Amino acid sequence: MPTDNHYDVIIIGTGAGGGTLAYHLAPSGKRILLLERGGYLPREKDNWDARAVFVESKYRANETWLDKDGNAFHPGIQYYVGGNTKVYGAALLRFRERDFGEIGHPDGVSPAWPLSYADFEPYYTKAERLYHVHGQRGADPTEGFASAPYSYPPVSHEARIQELCDDFRRLGYHPFPLPLGILLDEEGGKARHDSACVRCPAFDGFPCLVNGKADAQVICVDPALEHSNVELLTGAYVERLETSPSGRVVTKVIVKRNAAVEEYSADIVVVACGAINSAALLLRSANEKHPGGLANRSDVVGRHYMRHNCSAFMAISKEPNPTVFQKTLALNDFYFRSGDWEYPLGEIQMLGKTDGEMLKGEAPGWAIWKPEFALDFMAEHSIDFWLQSEDLPHPDNRVTVDPDGHIVLSIRENNLEGHKRLKAKLEAMLTAIGLHDVLMPRSLYLGKNIPIGGTAHQAGTIRFGRDPNTSALDVNCKAHQLDNLYVVDASFFVSIAAVNPSLTIMANALRVGDHLLERLGATGRR
Ligand SMILES: Cc1cc2nc3c(=O)[nH]c(=O)nc-3n(C[C@H](O)[C@H](O)[C@H](O)COP(=O)(O)OP(=O)(O)OC[C@H]3O[C@@H](n4cnc5c(N)ncnc54)[C@H](O)[C@@H]3O)c2cc1C
Ligand code: SF4
Repeated sequence: MPTDNHYDVIIIGTGAGGGTLAYHLAPSGKRILLLERGGYLPREKDNWDARAVFVESKYRANETWLDKDGNAFHPGIQYYVGGNTKVYGAALLRFRERDFGEIGHPDGVSPAWPLSYADFEPYYTKAERLYHVHGQRGADPTEGFASAPYSYPPVSHEARIQELCDDFRRLGYHPFPLPLGILLDEEGGKARHDSACVRCPAFDGFPCLVNGKADAQVICVDPALEHSNVELLTGAYVERLETSPSGRVVTKVIVKRNAAVEEYSADIVVVACGAINSAALLLRSANEKHPGGLANRSDVVGRHYMRHNCSAFMAISKEPNPTVFQKTLALNDFYFRSGDWEYPLGEIQMLGKTDGEMLKGEAPGWAIWKPEFALDFMAEHSIDFWLQSEDLPHPDNRVTVDPDGHIVLSIRENNLEGHKRLKAKLEAMLTAIGLHDVLMPRSLYLGKNIPIGGTAHQAGTIRFGRDPNTSALDVNCKAHQLDNLYVVDASFFVSIAAVNPSLTIMANALRVGDHLLERLGATGRR
């Protein structure tokens, strides 16, 4: 007989994975509890203030983790209803078909997933529709088949980016409109009077003051909560999971809330805390039956951490770049190989427009490098790119929890050669389109690699698979060792490809959601 604290389903974490799952299960009528350690991200002017967001890190979690040598660092992570999607750039791309298979890289192999692109395709289509992805099929030669067109047209380029696009095309490349999850209705390149998004410069890395970004809170959690069978507890930090004496069933979810300890239970418990926190939660939940951490007989929990090899790249031209909404273009011509390199290099995307305040936030480093540059001037003249390449799932790149409960993140970067070559390709392209004629006299390209605190694309720490010796989750993302424990955030990734992770997390949550509806004998959203 259920008690008040017993639910059909508990979902821990409300980001891309947990939020999407909640939305999918909500119409089932099943009693669902969402546990979220954060609160709602405050809606205030600072949402769009570059100094508050990038210099003061106002919305970042106020905690430090340790690297493998015991040095503390401040991770780029946010704890809110909606998770990291509250600040994400909403570039929502599918993995390429080949990304689901084994791909050779100079530093090793990107392993095959236990499922194929065809298994994910229907869910990609649903996730794109749900998250209002604006895009154009057929423009990117590397994209896989799609069972439906995008439901929303691509976000239009402003004049400078259209010029860049035309120049790249003239050189024989295949730039395409970056698929974006955004509540934008345009007319003549401007936001329509009734559009939620106003096409402002604060897209990438900022929260949206007017709820114009298709994030997990706006798109999934808020609509899920309209169902009376769904409850949300904020400020609810899940400390550990306890199991039955056999170790087969999660029987208690131990929560710290308002300085008190509370206990909840559910027929099905879903962990969706993000790849690092989910692994930490399972490791913290070690018990007699699970001495190395919950669901960790394979010893993979916490291992194979991936985060992409990324860099932000700024080309400074003599002419100003007045673009407001810059993140509309991407290019995959070097995704699998280049003419002079047989291995994958990665993806090139535009980045949100650099702001003088953002550069000032990085001033010590920049100033040493070139003190006489006026940072505002640089920002006004910059064209900004995001370069993203695949890193490989090495077992020693891992999350552990030290005896004091601190998260320890050990990484050794790998597979960097492709990324280096991708940068060189972009430099060559910019030079080839004549940008050097308008570049600052010293042909200034500023590339900035992402340090250990760059946890934005964290994935892979509780991988799924068919073999319980090499994976912690089965193909439905249920723990091999437990009957009622699932994981639906980025932890399940086997490899990370070179596209942004969220659409695959969302699509997977819908896929696992269908499995759970079947298991619960319920109908949900289809
Ligand atoms: C600045 C930035 C830009 C990004 N841009 C893009 C982009 O353009 N495209 C893209 O695809 N991805 C982007 N990402 C990455 C994207 O945000 C993540 O991949 C995605 O949000 C991960 O989803 P998740 O469900 O795994 O985890 P999250 O979205 O991180 O959700 C995890 C949730 O669990 C909660 N939680 C954690 N621990 C506990 C606990 N112990 N108890 C209770 N609750 C807990 C957290 O508060 C959070 O709400 C970006 C990320 C950042 C930071
Ligand atoms: S561009 Fe649109 S979605 Fe992004 S912050 Fe501005 S209004 Fe919000």
